Amino acid sequence: MRMPGSGGEPLLTAEHNGDVSFWWRARGGFPPRRPSLPGPLTTDVCIVGGGFTGLWTAYYLKQAAPTLRVVVLEAAFAGFGASGRNGGWLTSALPGSRERYARGPGGRDAVLDLQRQLRGTVDEVARVCAAESIDADLVKGGELAVATSPAQLSRIRAELLGDREWGLDEKDVQYLGADELATRVRVAGGLGALYSPDCARIQPAKLVTGLAEAVERSGVRIYEATPVTRILPGGAGSVGAGGARACTVFGDVSAGYVLRATEGFTARLPGQRRALLPMNSSMIVTEPLSAAAWQEIGWDGRETIGDSAHVYMYAQRTEDGRIAIGGRGIPYRFASAVDHLGMTDPSTVAALTGVLQRLFPAAADAKIAHAWCGVLGVPRDWCATVTLDQATGLGSAGGYTGHGVAASNLAGHTLADLVTGEPTPRTALPWVGHRARTWEPEPLRWTGVHGLYALYRAADHTEDQGSEQTSPLARIGDRISGIPH
Ligand SMILES: Cc1cc2nc3c(=O)[nH]c(=O)nc-3n(C[C@H](O)[C@H](O)[C@H](O)COP(=O)(O)OP(=O)(O)OC[C@H]3O[C@@H](n4cnc5c(N)ncnc54)[C@H](O)[C@@H]3O)c2cc1C
Repeated sequence: MRMPGSGGEPLLTAEHNGDVSFWWRARGGFPPRRPSLPGPLTTDVCIVGGGFTGLWTAYYLKQAAPTLRVVVLEAAFAGFGASGRNGGWLTSALPGSRERYARGPGGRDAVLDLQRQLRGTVDEVARVCAAESIDADLVKGGELAVATSPAQLSRIRAELLGDREWGLDEKDVQYLGADELATRVRVAGGLGALYSPDCARIQPAKLVTGLAEAVERSGVRIYEATPVTRILPGGAGSVGAGGARACTVFGDVSAGYVLRATEGFTARLPGQRRALLPMNSSMIVTEPLSAAAWQEIGWDGRETIGDSAHVYMYAQRTEDGRIAIGGRGIPYRFASAVDHLGMTDPSTVAALTGVLQRLFPAAADAKIAHAWCGVLGVPRDWCATVTLDQATGLGSAGGYTGHGVAASNLAGHTLADLVTGEPTPRTALPWVGHRARTWEPEPLRWTGVHGLYALYRAADHTEDQGSEQTSPLARIGDRISGIPH
């Protein structure tokens, strides 16, 4: 087996690096660019950001109120951000901590409802894909959280107990022993796993492209290459001079509502520098594997697969028979900077290749076809928010901490409900109106995040030596960061 950087071999690299993501290259490149904002405009709802959150919000707004005038302003192109770069886990996993959401007015019941609605979201996205003829390579094969060390095994067992306390039964999540896991997929060193059926594998760029087209068909105008430089509050629901405003170099959009859906890029907007931390996540994808390799690995059910390390990996088997695998890499760039077109550090490519080779030895000789990265939005308390202030007309949704592919559908639907003003089961969810404090100023922010990941990497290393206990280093990290469990 080739080991990155060992035995005098050159550091492993990818054939392509950046270009936003492999998912776009697999579609034949970036989509044709839509026009920029032609000039100042007045509308009912202006959405800032053309990722899943912005597009789902627009989609459900037009479903509920077809005559509403809705525009989307996108800095680059629809799907340029995390929505076109992610691991393709349409997962019902909760973005944040149950205990923390339960501190809200809805208490435990509201959290149970959020869990239930997130599970339903996987089918809702599949339903819209069918209704709108979106081919997103969607296969609902479930999710496997694999343990590859005794400490990881103890953790998934504890997690299962926690799930049971929060009302999840055998049909929602079940424990698989090593043999049962191996009948699904052969993960080297796999000691057991948690299996949840409520997850689907998707091709992110296909989903976001199809969704943007569906949104346009419903009458929404998407303006691309139109960065919003400032968002200003207005008076309640008033369109025109008193409306909220999204300012751009092409002119301002004045609207009854301006909804921010900028996730990992939020820090670039004035007044938002410390609202959401742009956490980096990186991915590699292999060339298509041989039939013999797939015979050895299995994975016929197309489950999404992650391990249970502190610096965890996530993976999918793509429609054309590759393994796409992701992990943290460089966790955070100083002063909330973001990557350049998804370019990834060679050391991250080598580290992810090492993970691939360790967990899937049958893929050890596969070339790495592409590497890329992107940013996801992390609030200070690691819990997502959907919010609308009727007094100013300003709203937002996001902060999914890396679990936003399905959650953005539910959050966008909720934000649309808040705008149309109809109380629905979604508007009572505990993330509605949830507030987190802001992140620390630099250099504390950079030092804290890098220190945290140094602790997590050291904890993973210690646990790989065979201890059954979670390393105390990880617990120190959790305490410093406030990461909830
Ligand atoms: C590498 C990676 C892997 C991931 N894997 C998974 C996964 O497998 N499953 C999962 O659930 N989640 C995953 N995530 C997270 C998930 O992709 C995100 O939570 C989700 O896509 C967020 O969607 P969004 O629309 O809120 O944000 P984004 O998709 O980031 O969209 C924000 C958009 O706003 C635009 N924008 C920003 N600022 C402005 C401005 N000032 N003016 C105009 N436009 C602006 C950006 O260009 C961008 O297109 C992953 C993220 C990354 C980076």
